Amino acid sequence: MQRASRAERGSGRTSGAVPPGGRVLVVAAHPDDPEYGCAATVAKWAAEGREVTYLLLTSGDKGSKDPRVLPGQLASRREREQRSAAAHLGVKEVIFQRHPDGMLENTMAMRREIAGIIRRCRPHLLVTIDPWRRYQTHPDHRAAGQAALDAAYAAKEIYLFPEQLVDGVEPWRIREAWLFWSENPDRWEDVGCCIGKRIAALRRHASQVSSDPKKLAEGIRKSARETAKKGKQAFEFAEAFKVLHW
Ligand SMILES: [Zn+2]
Repeated sequence: MQRASRAERGSGRTSGAVPPGGRVLVVAAHPDDPEYGCAATVAKWAAEGREVTYLLLTSGDKGSKDPRVLPGQLASRREREQRSAAAHLGVKEVIFQRHPDGMLENTMAMRREIAGIIRRCRPHLLVTIDPWRRYQTHPDHRAAGQAALDAAYAAKEIYLFPEQLVDGVEPWRIREAWLFWSENPDRWEDVGCCIGKRIAALRRHASQVSSDPKKLAEGIRKSARETAKKGKQAFEFAEAFKVLHW
């Protein structure tokens, strides 16, 4: 397994887990989760020639407080917003599984579904939500992170979901998982290059974010600056991750 050297860690260079031209799979619960968790890093990877795929387990159909907005209407709007944000970051493909928002569970069926996608996409790196963050009250965020990690475990095993192993599909071992929204990060990506891309991508989630573009930009810059500071990094803006190795 290739690992980032000590000099690379925290220097802003990308880990050896994703070779040039390599593949990254981002699994999240809702449209806008990736933009809040890892979008600037995604933009950096895409600019470096890495192939990034988003897998959204729901389409965020309950993401409104307005009873006049029906879940079906909101889902299609949020899918459009997510595709637009992803395109701006250089994401190659966005997959929607369209499970009901607010009701995600880490079931065997969910793991099977994600494992099948992993075996077809064959990512070198999985990026998902840290399901072990304490006091994480959104059930979908816990379930999405846990199901993605459990699916990654299953995807490499020949006796788990063996019915998928036909027509050239083989077990696939992901080398690393990077968890965002973690309480215990151990990797800080220098995203000075791409913080503007993250802000612009978030603005495309117009149904969810502040309509005041200045306020949104300031909030994102402030939080990325605090993330770098908390990690004692020399650079100005960071996104933080907990890295797991397989
Ligand atoms: Zn979410």
